[in-house]
Amino acid sequence: MFELRNLNVSYGKHAALQDVAMSMTPSEVVVVLGANGAGKSTLIKSVAGLVTPQPGAVITMEGRDLTRIPPHQVVETGIAVVPEGRGIFGELTVAENLLLGANPRRARADQARSRDLVLDLFPRLAERHRQAVRTMSGGEQQMVAIGRALMSQPRLLMLDEPSLGLAPVLVGELFAALARIGDAGVALLIVEQNVRISLSIADRGYLLEAGRIVGQGPADSLANDPQVRSAFLGADVQDLTKEL
Ligand code: ATP
Repeated sequence: MFELRNLNVSYGKHAALQDVAMSMTPSEVVVVLGANGAGKSTLIKSVAGLVTPQPGAVITMEGRDLTRIPPHQVVETGIAVVPEGRGIFGELTVAENLLLGANPRRARADQARSRDLVLDLFPRLAERHRQAVRTMSGGEQQMVAIGRALMSQPRLLMLDEPSLGLAPVLVGELFAALARIGDAGVALLIVEQNVRISLSIADRGYLLEAGRIVGQGPADSLANDPQVRSAFLGADVQDLTKEL
């Protein structure tokens, strides 16, 4: 369904991504693990059309070449992005933010059904429908950002470090919601530093280090991989093995 090959992105002389390749099948949940500065945000921005890869990059969604369409049309191919920092409108209410997400042509006709699905997934947003988003907690704001992305009825939802800045209990809630979204058949591409919880809901994962893919595999084997353990996991590896 989604494929990316030969992706090279530089900021001036700094090579942020080098020869990156990955692919996803429909409904797959894939996590890209990388430390600060590994290039995770750059990967998502490349797909969204917010940075320009070097010539030769191939990025396709269901056969459509994303490198040849402007950013606002990427959403029409069935991809929705929840950016780092969430990109929501603090002065607007929950309801208004959700409505903005339904703007793509593919979603307009079905706004009410999409909204009901989002509120079913995040009941707290239903309680706070008329509340200005800036007055909500970090976890609730992340729900608004994900809800807004879902309003475009994506087949592939990309999330840039959704757990960033959230208290552990909220991270658990957030990933439980993401697992439900995946169960509903939406493919998820999650870039994260939070290895343990993201692998727990993923089918597969990639390891991104200094702009290169240095490993990949099924989520359970990555969780037990010595390279992942030494790069990302500390003393709590035993717990991880138990959880999985
Ligand atoms: P973080 O988790 O810290 O957000 P990341 O894995 O998302 O990191 P990127 O934001 O993709 O990493 O950055 C990859 C590299 O490219 C970093 O070394 C970063 O400093 C550099 N970089 C990112 N954006 C720019 C920019 N606009 N100009 C110059 N360098 C940049």
